[in-house]
Amino acid sequence: MNSRACCYGMALGMLTAAVGPMLAQSAKLVVTEAKLFTMAADQPEPFDGFMVIDEGGKLLEVGAGAPGAEWADTPKLDVSGMWILPGFVSAHSHLWQSAWRGLGADQTLMGWVEALYMEQAQFAPVEDFYWFTLQGALDHLRHGITTTYNFNYGAWAQPEFAEVQLKGEMESGVRFVHGQNFGGWGQVPTVEEGLASAGSFIEWIEAEDTGDQMLRVMINGSAAFRDTAQAAITEAAVGERYGIGNHLHILESAPEQYEERSRFRWMVDAGLITERDLMGHFIHVDPWILSHVIDAGAAISWNPLSNGRLASGTADIPHYLAEGLRVGMGVDGQASADRADPLENVRIGLYAVRAKYEDASVLSPYTVLRLHTWGSADALGVADQVGSLEVGKFADFVVIDPTDFGVVFDPYATLAFMAAQEHVAAVYVGGEKRVEAGRLTQHDYRNVGREVNKRVIAVRDRAAEESKK
Ligand SMILES: [Zn+2]
Repeated sequence: MNSRACCYGMALGMLTAAVGPMLAQSAKLVVTEAKLFTMAADQPEPFDGFMVIDEGGKLLEVGAGAPGAEWADTPKLDVSGMWILPGFVSAHSHLWQSAWRGLGADQTLMGWVEALYMEQAQFAPVEDFYWFTLQGALDHLRHGITTTYNFNYGAWAQPEFAEVQLKGEMESGVRFVHGQNFGGWGQVPTVEEGLASAGSFIEWIEAEDTGDQMLRVMINGSAAFRDTAQAAITEAAVGERYGIGNHLHILESAPEQYEERSRFRWMVDAGLITERDLMGHFIHVDPWILSHVIDAGAAISWNPLSNGRLASGTADIPHYLAEGLRVGMGVDGQASADRADPLENVRIGLYAVRAKYEDASVLSPYTVLRLHTWGSADALGVADQVGSLEVGKFADFVVIDPTDFGVVFDPYATLAFMAAQEHVAAVYVGGEKRVEAGRLTQHDYRNVGREVNKRVIAVRDRAAEESKK
Protein backbone atom coordinates (compact mmCIF):
# COMPACT_ATOMS: atom_id res chain seq x y z
CA MET A 1 0.00 0.00 0.00
CA ASN A 2 3.02 2.28 -0.06
CA SER A 3 2.75 4.38 -3.18
CA ARG A 4 6.38 5.51 -2.94
CA ALA A 5 7.60 1.90 -2.91
CA CYS A 6 5.37 1.24 -5.89
CA CYS A 7 6.92 4.06 -7.89
CA TYR A 8 10.52 3.21 -7.01
CA GLY A 9 9.73 -0.37 -8.07
CA MET A 10 8.41 0.80 -11.41
CA ALA A 11 11.44 3.01 -11.97
CA LEU A 12 13.79 0.14 -11.15
CA GLY A 13 11.86 -2.15 -13.49
CA MET A 14 12.28 0.31 -16.36
CA LEU A 15 15.98 0.69 -15.60
CA THR A 16 16.52 -3.08 -15.63
CA ALA A 17 14.63 -3.41 -18.88
CA ALA A 18 16.70 -0.64 -20.45
CA VAL A 19 20.07 -2.04 -19.36
CA GLY A 20 18.95 -5.59 -20.16
CA PRO A 21 21.19 -8.62 -19.79
CA MET A 22 24.25 -6.58 -18.87
CA LEU A 23 23.04 -6.57 -15.26
CA ALA A 24 23.22 -9.97 -13.57
CA GLN A 25 20.43 -10.56 -11.01
CA SER A 26 21.84 -10.14 -7.56
CA ALA A 27 20.95 -12.21 -4.53
CA LYS A 28 21.51 -11.72 -0.82
CA LEU A 29 21.28 -15.32 0.38
CA VAL A 30 21.33 -18.86 -0.94
CA VAL A 31 19.82 -21.57 1.28
CA THR A 32 21.39 -24.97 0.61
CA GLU A 33 21.00 -28.59 1.76
CA ALA A 34 17.32 -28.10 2.65
CA LYS A 35 14.42 -30.52 2.60
CA LEU A 36 11.83 -28.28 0.98
CA PHE A 37 8.11 -28.52 1.61
CA THR A 38 7.10 -25.76 -0.81
CA MET A 39 3.30 -26.28 -0.41
CA ALA A 40 2.97 -25.22 -4.05
CA ALA A 41 -0.01 -26.79 -5.83
CA ASP A 42 2.05 -28.97 -8.13
CA GLN A 43 4.61 -30.02 -5.52
CA PRO A 44 3.13 -32.26 -2.81
CA GLU A 45 6.36 -34.28 -2.48
CA PRO A 46 9.11 -32.68 -0.38
CA PHE A 47 12.54 -32.69 -2.05
CA ASP A 48 16.18 -31.91 -1.25
CA GLY A 49 17.14 -28.58 -2.73
CA PHE A 50 18.02 -24.91 -2.45
CA MET A 51 16.50 -21.42 -2.57
CA VAL A 52 18.01 -18.19 -3.93
CA ILE A 53 16.71 -15.00 -2.29
CA ASP A 54 17.00 -11.63 -4.02
CA GLU A 55 17.89 -8.29 -2.44
CA GLY A 56 14.19 -7.48 -2.05
CA GLY A 57 13.60 -10.59 0.06
CA LYS A 58 11.81 -12.54 -2.66
CA LEU A 59 12.52 -15.98 -4.08
CA LEU A 60 14.57 -15.86 -7.25
CA GLU A 61 15.02 -19.63 -7.57
CA VAL A 62 13.65 -22.70 -5.79
CA GLY A 63 15.09 -25.95 -7.05
CA ALA A 64 16.22 -29.52 -6.42
CA GLY A 65 19.86 -30.40 -5.82
CA ALA A 66 22.53 -27.71 -5.53
CA PRO A 67 22.46 -24.07 -6.69
CA GLY A 68 24.22 -23.08 -9.92
CA ALA A 69 27.79 -21.83 -10.10
CA GLU A 70 26.60 -18.25 -10.69
CA TRP A 71 25.76 -18.06 -6.96
CA ALA A 72 29.24 -19.16 -5.85
CA ASP A 73 30.02 -15.76 -4.28
CA THR A 74 26.59 -15.18 -2.69
CA PRO A 75 26.35 -15.70 1.12
CA LYS A 76 25.17 -19.24 1.94
CA LEU A 77 22.95 -20.68 4.64
CA ASP A 78 23.64 -24.42 4.79
CA VAL A 79 20.74 -25.90 6.76
CA SER A 80 22.11 -29.47 6.66
CA GLY A 81 18.92 -31.42 6.03
CA MET A 82 16.58 -29.25 8.09
CA TRP A 83 12.98 -29.14 6.87
CA ILE A 84 11.84 -25.84 5.36
CA LEU A 85 8.18 -24.86 5.06
CA PRO A 86 6.65 -21.56 3.99
CA GLY A 87 5.87 -19.31 6.94
CA PHE A 88 2.43 -20.13 8.32
CA VAL A 89 -0.39 -17.70 7.58
CA SER A 90 -3.08 -16.96 10.17
CA ALA A 91 -6.18 -15.83 8.30
CA HIS A 92 -7.87 -14.71 11.54
CA SER A 93 -6.08 -13.16 14.54
CA HIS A 94 -6.69 -10.41 17.10
CA LEU A 95 -3.14 -9.49 18.07
CA TRP A 96 -4.04 -7.24 21.02
CA GLN A 97 -5.75 -10.14 22.78
CA SER A 98 -2.40 -11.77 23.68
CA ALA A 99 -2.48 -9.64 26.84
CA TRP A 100 -5.60 -11.42 28.12
CA ARG A 101 -5.02 -15.17 28.11
CA GLY A 102 -6.97 -17.56 30.27
CA LEU A 103 -10.02 -15.32 30.73
CA GLY A 104 -13.56 -16.69 30.79
CA ALA A 105 -12.29 -20.23 31.21
CA ASP A 106 -15.74 -21.86 31.46
CA GLN A 107 -17.54 -19.54 29.05
CA THR A 108 -18.85 -19.91 25.52
CA LEU A 109 -18.56 -16.96 23.13
CA MET A 110 -20.86 -14.35 24.65
CA GLY A 111 -19.74 -14.97 28.24
CA TRP A 112 -16.15 -14.78 27.07
CA VAL A 113 -16.84 -11.51 25.20
CA GLU A 114 -18.26 -10.11 28.42
CA ALA A 115 -15.19 -11.22 30.42
CA LEU A 116 -12.73 -9.77 27.90
CA TYR A 117 -14.32 -6.67 26.39
CA MET A 118 -16.75 -5.48 29.05
CA GLU A 119 -14.89 -6.47 32.20
CA GLN A 120 -11.31 -5.72 31.03
CA ALA A 121 -10.36 -4.26 27.64
CA GLN A 122 -12.67 -1.24 27.74
CA PHE A 123 -10.68 0.05 30.73
CA ALA A 124 -7.34 -0.05 28.87
CA PRO A 125 -5.92 3.30 27.68
CA VAL A 126 -5.05 3.68 24.03
CA GLU A 127 -1.25 3.36 24.44
CA ASP A 128 -1.66 -0.12 25.95
CA PHE A 129 -2.80 -1.39 22.58
CA TYR A 130 0.63 -0.72 21.09
CA TRP A 131 2.21 -3.09 23.61
CA PHE A 132 -0.57 -5.67 23.39
CA THR A 133 -0.36 -5.73 19.56
CA LEU A 134 3.44 -5.91 19.57
CA GLN A 135 3.39 -8.85 21.98
CA GLY A 136 0.67 -10.65 20.03
CA ALA A 137 2.53 -10.23 16.74
CA LEU A 138 5.87 -11.37 18.20
CA ASP A 139 4.14 -14.40 19.68
CA HIS A 140 2.80 -15.28 16.23
CA LEU A 141 6.27 -14.88 14.72
CA ARG A 142 8.06 -17.06 17.26
CA HIS A 143 5.61 -19.88 16.52
CA GLY A 144 6.31 -19.66 12.78
CA ILE A 145 3.46 -17.41 11.60
CA THR A 146 4.96 -14.87 9.20
CA THR A 147 1.71 -13.35 7.87
CA THR A 148 -1.41 -12.64 9.88
CA TYR A 149 -4.79 -11.00 9.52
CA ASN A 150 -5.19 -8.57 12.42
CA PHE A 151 -8.60 -7.48 13.69
CA ASN A 152 -7.61 -4.13 15.16
CA TYR A 153 -9.36 -3.11 18.35
CA GLY A 154 -11.71 -0.15 18.15
CA ALA A 155 -13.32 1.74 15.31
CA TRP A 156 -11.84 4.34 12.96
CA ALA A 157 -13.97 6.89 14.84
CA GLN A 158 -11.05 6.84 17.30
CA PRO A 159 -8.05 6.86 14.93
CA GLU A 160 -5.54 6.94 17.79
CA PHE A 161 -6.31 3.25 18.39
CA ALA A 162 -5.49 2.41 14.76
CA GLU A 163 -2.26 4.43 14.99
CA VAL A 164 -0.81 2.58 17.98
CA GLN A 165 -1.85 -0.82 16.66
CA LEU A 166 -0.31 -0.15 13.25
CA LYS A 167 2.90 0.80 15.07
CA GLY A 168 2.80 -2.52 16.95
CA GLU A 169 2.21 -4.45 13.72
CA MET A 170 5.09 -2.67 11.97
CA GLU A 171 7.62 -2.93 14.79
CA SER A 172 7.03 -6.66 15.23
CA GLY A 173 8.38 -7.42 11.73
CA VAL A 174 5.46 -9.72 10.86
CA ARG A 175 3.58 -9.30 7.59
CA PHE A 176 -0.07 -8.47 8.05
CA VAL A 177 -3.46 -7.66 6.61
CA HIS A 178 -4.73 -4.70 8.64
CA GLY A 179 -8.41 -5.15 9.55
CA GLN A 180 -10.30 -1.97 10.43
CA ASN A 181 -13.78 -1.50 11.85
CA PHE A 182 -15.65 1.49 10.39
CA GLY A 183 -18.78 1.21 12.48
CA GLY A 184 -17.82 0.49 16.08
CA TRP A 185 -20.14 -0.79 18.74
CA GLY A 186 -22.38 2.27 18.74
CA GLN A 187 -24.81 3.34 16.07
CA VAL A 188 -24.62 1.63 12.68
CA PRO A 189 -23.29 4.13 10.12
CA THR A 190 -25.28 5.07 7.03
CA VAL A 191 -23.74 4.40 3.62
CA GLU A 192 -22.61 8.03 3.43
CA GLU A 193 -21.03 7.93 6.89
CA GLY A 194 -19.37 4.57 6.15
CA LEU A 195 -17.88 5.78 2.87
CA ALA A 196 -16.54 8.96 4.47
CA SER A 197 -15.04 7.03 7.37
CA ALA A 198 -13.46 4.37 5.14
CA GLY A 199 -12.16 7.01 2.75
CA SER A 200 -10.33 8.90 5.48
CA PHE A 201 -8.94 5.64 6.87
CA ILE A 202 -7.57 4.55 3.49
CA GLU A 203 -6.08 8.00 2.87
CA TRP A 204 -4.32 7.80 6.25
CA ILE A 205 -2.94 4.29 5.91
CA GLU A 206 -1.73 4.83 2.33
CA ALA A 207 0.34 7.75 3.58
CA GLU A 208 1.97 5.57 6.27
CA ASP A 209 5.26 3.91 5.37
CA THR A 210 4.24 0.25 5.63
CA GLY A 211 6.83 -1.01 3.09
CA ASP A 212 6.17 -4.63 2.15
CA GLN A 213 4.92 -5.63 5.61
CA MET A 214 1.28 -4.61 5.14
CA LEU A 215 -0.14 -6.69 2.32
CA ARG A 216 -3.73 -5.39 2.30
CA VAL A 217 -6.42 -3.70 4.32
CA MET A 218 -9.83 -5.24 4.95
CA ILE A 219 -13.02 -4.34 6.80
CA ASN A 220 -13.62 -5.96 10.18
CA GLY A 221 -17.20 -6.88 9.33
CA SER A 222 -20.00 -6.52 11.86
CA ALA A 223 -23.09 -7.41 9.80
CA ALA A 224 -23.75 -10.75 11.54
CA PHE A 225 -23.93 -9.03 14.95
CA ARG A 226 -26.41 -6.29 14.03
CA ASP A 227 -30.16 -6.49 14.29
CA THR A 228 -30.55 -4.21 11.27
CA ALA A 229 -29.76 -4.74 7.58
CA GLN A 230 -28.03 -1.33 7.51
CA ALA A 231 -24.66 -2.74 8.64
CA ALA A 232 -24.58 -5.13 5.67
CA ILE A 233 -25.67 -2.38 3.28
CA THR A 234 -23.02 0.07 4.51
CA GLU A 235 -20.21 -2.49 4.57
CA ALA A 236 -21.11 -3.77 1.09
CA ALA A 237 -21.00 -0.19 -0.21
CA VAL A 238 -17.58 0.42 1.36
CA GLY A 239 -16.23 -2.83 -0.09
CA GLU A 240 -17.57 -2.02 -3.53
CA ARG A 241 -16.34 1.60 -3.59
CA TYR A 242 -12.82 0.88 -2.36
CA GLY A 243 -12.41 -2.68 -3.65
CA ILE A 244 -11.61 -4.01 -0.20
CA GLY A 245 -12.74 -7.27 1.34
CA ASN A 246 -14.83 -7.81 4.44
CA HIS A 247 -13.83 -10.26 7.17
CA LEU A 248 -16.93 -11.17 9.15
CA HIS A 249 -17.32 -13.20 12.29
CA ILE A 250 -20.24 -15.44 11.44
CA LEU A 251 -21.88 -18.66 12.57
CA GLU A 252 -19.31 -19.15 15.31
CA SER A 253 -21.24 -19.77 18.51
CA ALA A 254 -23.99 -22.40 18.73
CA PRO A 255 -26.56 -20.32 20.69
CA GLU A 256 -26.39 -17.36 18.25
CA GLN A 257 -26.57 -19.46 15.08
CA TYR A 258 -30.31 -19.04 14.48
CA GLU A 259 -30.21 -15.26 14.58
CA GLU A 260 -27.11 -15.11 12.43
CA ARG A 261 -28.52 -17.46 9.83
CA SER A 262 -31.59 -15.27 9.52
CA ARG A 263 -29.36 -12.20 9.03
CA PHE A 264 -27.48 -13.90 6.21
CA ARG A 265 -30.36 -13.00 3.90
CA TRP A 266 -29.61 -9.31 4.54
CA MET A 267 -26.00 -9.82 3.58
CA VAL A 268 -26.94 -11.55 0.34
CA ASP A 269 -29.46 -8.83 -0.53
CA ALA A 270 -26.87 -6.13 0.23
CA GLY A 271 -24.31 -7.82 -2.06
CA LEU A 272 -21.93 -8.30 0.84
CA ILE A 273 -20.77 -11.84 0.04
CA THR A 274 -18.24 -11.65 -2.83
CA GLU A 275 -14.91 -13.22 -3.77
CA ARG A 276 -13.18 -10.43 -1.80
CA ASP A 277 -14.85 -11.50 1.42
CA LEU A 278 -13.96 -13.88 4.19
CA MET A 279 -16.22 -15.59 6.72
CA GLY A 280 -14.53 -16.16 10.07
CA HIS A 281 -15.49 -19.45 11.82
CA PHE A 282 -18.47 -20.45 9.62
CA ILE A 283 -19.45 -23.51 11.64
CA HIS A 284 -23.25 -23.63 11.84
CA VAL A 285 -24.15 -23.36 8.17
CA ASP A 286 -27.17 -24.61 6.29
CA PRO A 287 -27.04 -25.87 2.67
CA TRP A 288 -28.31 -22.57 1.22
CA ILE A 289 -25.71 -20.46 3.04
CA LEU A 290 -22.92 -22.84 2.11
CA SER A 291 -23.84 -22.94 -1.56
CA HIS A 292 -24.23 -19.15 -1.67
CA VAL A 293 -20.76 -18.59 -0.22
CA ILE A 294 -19.21 -21.13 -2.60
CA ASP A 295 -21.00 -19.67 -5.65
CA ALA A 296 -19.92 -16.15 -4.67
CA GLY A 297 -16.28 -17.32 -4.50
CA ALA A 298 -15.90 -16.11 -0.90
CA ALA A 299 -13.54 -17.89 1.51
CA ILE A 300 -13.67 -18.91 5.17
CA SER A 301 -11.25 -19.02 8.07
CA TRP A 302 -11.34 -22.22 10.12
CA ASN A 303 -10.16 -21.52 13.69
CA PRO A 304 -10.13 -24.86 15.52
CA LEU A 305 -8.20 -23.80 18.65
CA SER A 306 -10.71 -21.13 19.67
CA ASN A 307 -13.67 -23.16 18.40
CA GLY A 308 -12.63 -25.93 20.78
CA ARG A 309 -11.80 -23.64 23.72
CA LEU A 310 -15.13 -21.78 23.48
CA ALA A 311 -17.11 -24.96 22.72
CA SER A 312 -18.36 -23.32 19.52
CA GLY A 313 -18.43 -26.52 17.46
CA THR A 314 -16.43 -28.17 14.68
CA ALA A 315 -16.67 -26.86 11.14
CA ASP A 316 -17.38 -29.59 8.60
CA ILE A 317 -14.15 -29.06 6.68
CA PRO A 318 -14.17 -32.30 4.60
CA HIS A 319 -17.64 -31.44 3.34
CA TYR A 320 -16.70 -27.80 2.64
CA LEU A 321 -13.60 -28.83 0.69
CA ALA A 322 -15.51 -31.46 -1.29
CA GLU A 323 -18.04 -28.79 -2.24
CA GLY A 324 -15.29 -26.44 -3.46
CA LEU A 325 -15.20 -23.87 -0.64
CA ARG A 326 -11.97 -21.87 -0.23
CA VAL A 327 -10.69 -22.59 3.29
CA GLY A 328 -7.89 -20.93 5.28
CA MET A 329 -6.99 -21.29 8.95
CA GLY A 330 -6.50 -18.84 11.79
CA VAL A 331 -5.15 -19.12 15.31
CA ASP A 332 -7.63 -16.40 16.40
CA GLY A 333 -6.89 -14.06 19.31
CA GLN A 334 -4.72 -15.38 22.11
CA ALA A 335 -7.50 -14.73 24.63
CA SER A 336 -9.61 -17.49 23.05
CA ALA A 337 -6.81 -19.64 21.58
CA ASP A 338 -4.18 -19.03 24.17
CA ARG A 339 -1.26 -20.41 22.12
CA ALA A 340 -0.64 -18.63 18.80
CA ASP A 341 0.71 -21.89 17.49
CA PRO A 342 -0.13 -23.03 13.94
CA LEU A 343 1.20 -26.55 14.52
CA GLU A 344 -1.11 -26.90 17.53
CA ASN A 345 -3.96 -25.45 15.46
CA VAL A 346 -3.31 -28.00 12.70
CA ARG A 347 -3.28 -30.84 15.21
CA ILE A 348 -6.40 -29.80 17.13
CA GLY A 349 -8.29 -29.15 13.89
CA LEU A 350 -7.32 -32.45 12.32
CA TYR A 351 -8.21 -34.42 15.46
CA ALA A 352 -11.53 -32.62 16.03
CA VAL A 353 -12.66 -33.40 12.49
CA ARG A 354 -11.50 -37.03 12.64
CA ALA A 355 -13.28 -37.46 15.97
CA LYS A 356 -16.45 -35.87 14.62
CA TYR A 357 -16.51 -38.33 11.71
CA GLU A 358 -15.07 -41.28 13.66
CA ASP A 359 -12.93 -41.78 10.56
CA ALA A 360 -9.15 -41.19 10.36
CA SER A 361 -9.11 -41.05 6.57
CA VAL A 362 -11.51 -38.15 6.26
CA LEU A 363 -8.85 -35.40 6.43
CA SER A 364 -5.11 -35.76 5.73
CA PRO A 365 -2.17 -34.08 7.47
CA TYR A 366 -1.02 -32.66 4.13
CA THR A 367 -4.39 -31.04 3.48
CA VAL A 368 -4.50 -29.30 6.86
CA LEU A 369 -0.89 -28.08 6.59
CA ARG A 370 -1.70 -26.69 3.16
CA LEU A 371 -4.79 -24.92 4.54
CA HIS A 372 -2.64 -23.12 7.14
CA THR A 373 -0.14 -21.94 4.49
CA TRP A 374 -1.38 -21.56 0.92
CA GLY A 375 -5.06 -21.86 1.87
CA SER A 376 -4.89 -18.97 4.34
CA ALA A 377 -2.96 -16.82 1.87
CA ASP A 378 -5.62 -17.53 -0.74
CA ALA A 379 -8.43 -16.75 1.71
CA LEU A 380 -6.82 -13.37 2.41
CA GLY A 381 -6.26 -12.64 -1.28
CA VAL A 382 -2.47 -12.56 -0.88
CA ALA A 383 -1.48 -15.95 -2.35
CA ASP A 384 0.49 -14.18 -5.06
CA GLN A 385 2.88 -12.97 -2.34
CA VAL A 386 2.99 -15.54 0.48
CA GLY A 387 1.73 -19.01 1.45
CA SER A 388 4.12 -21.20 -0.60
CA LEU A 389 7.78 -21.23 -1.58
CA GLU A 390 7.62 -20.26 -5.22
CA VAL A 391 9.63 -17.89 -7.42
CA GLY A 392 8.41 -14.30 -7.09
CA LYS A 393 6.92 -14.72 -3.61
CA PHE A 394 8.45 -13.49 -0.37
CA ALA A 395 11.16 -15.69 1.17
CA ASP A 396 9.18 -16.18 4.39
CA PHE A 397 9.97 -19.59 5.82
CA VAL A 398 10.15 -21.79 8.89
CA VAL A 399 13.15 -24.05 9.55
CA ILE A 400 12.12 -27.24 11.36
CA ASP A 401 14.71 -29.44 13.09
CA PRO A 402 13.68 -33.07 12.40
CA THR A 403 16.25 -34.64 14.76
CA ASP A 404 13.52 -35.66 17.23
CA PHE A 405 11.25 -37.21 14.66
CA GLY A 406 12.83 -40.68 14.49
CA VAL A 407 12.35 -42.73 11.35
CA VAL A 408 9.95 -40.75 9.20
CA PHE A 409 7.31 -42.72 7.32
CA ASP A 410 5.17 -39.80 6.15
CA PRO A 411 6.71 -36.35 6.70
CA TYR A 412 3.37 -34.51 6.66
CA ALA A 413 1.98 -36.90 9.26
CA THR A 414 5.08 -36.30 11.41
CA LEU A 415 4.59 -32.53 11.10
CA ALA A 416 0.88 -32.63 11.89
CA PHE A 417 1.00 -35.23 14.67
CA MET A 418 4.28 -34.41 16.38
CA ALA A 419 5.97 -31.16 15.40
CA ALA A 420 5.73 -28.33 17.93
CA GLN A 421 7.37 -25.04 18.76
CA GLU A 422 10.47 -26.77 20.17
CA HIS A 423 11.21 -28.05 16.66
CA VAL A 424 11.09 -24.55 15.12
CA ALA A 425 14.82 -23.88 14.72
CA ALA A 426 14.43 -20.54 12.94
CA VAL A 427 11.91 -18.25 11.24
CA TYR A 428 12.78 -15.98 8.30
CA VAL A 429 10.78 -13.07 6.88
CA GLY A 430 11.93 -11.79 3.49
CA GLY A 431 15.10 -13.84 3.87
CA GLU A 432 15.97 -12.14 7.20
CA LYS A 433 16.24 -14.22 10.37
CA ARG A 434 13.62 -13.09 12.89
CA VAL A 435 13.64 -16.09 15.26
CA GLU A 436 16.41 -18.47 16.22
CA ALA A 437 15.95 -21.36 18.66
CA GLY A 438 12.87 -19.75 20.19
CA ARG A 439 14.47 -16.31 20.59
CA LEU A 440 13.48 -13.24 18.63
CA THR A 441 16.45 -11.62 16.91
CA GLN A 442 15.12 -8.04 17.07
CA HIS A 443 13.11 -7.86 20.27
CA ASP A 444 13.47 -8.87 23.89
CA TYR A 445 10.24 -10.84 24.28
CA ARG A 446 10.55 -10.96 28.06
CA ASN A 447 10.78 -7.19 28.31
CA VAL A 448 7.73 -6.79 26.09
CA GLY A 449 5.92 -9.31 28.30
CA ARG A 450 6.87 -7.46 31.49
CA GLU A 451 5.54 -4.19 30.04
CA VAL A 452 2.30 -5.87 28.93
CA ASN A 453 1.78 -7.54 32.31
CA LYS A 454 2.28 -4.27 34.18
CA ARG A 455 -0.37 -2.66 32.02
CA VAL A 456 -2.81 -5.58 32.31
CA ILE A 457 -2.54 -5.48 36.12
CA ALA A 458 -3.28 -1.74 36.08
CA VAL A 459 -6.34 -2.31 33.87
CA ARG A 460 -7.51 -5.18 36.05
CA ASP A 461 -7.26 -2.97 39.16
CA ARG A 462 -9.07 -0.10 37.43
CA ALA A 463 -11.81 -2.49 36.27
CA ALA A 464 -12.22 -3.82 39.82
CA GLU A 465 -12.55 -0.25 41.17
CA GLU A 466 -15.16 0.58 38.52
CA SER A 467 -17.20 -2.49 39.32
CA LYS A 468 -17.49 -1.37 42.99
CA LYS A 469 -19.12 1.92 41.98
ZN1 LIG B 1 -12.10 -13.67 15.92
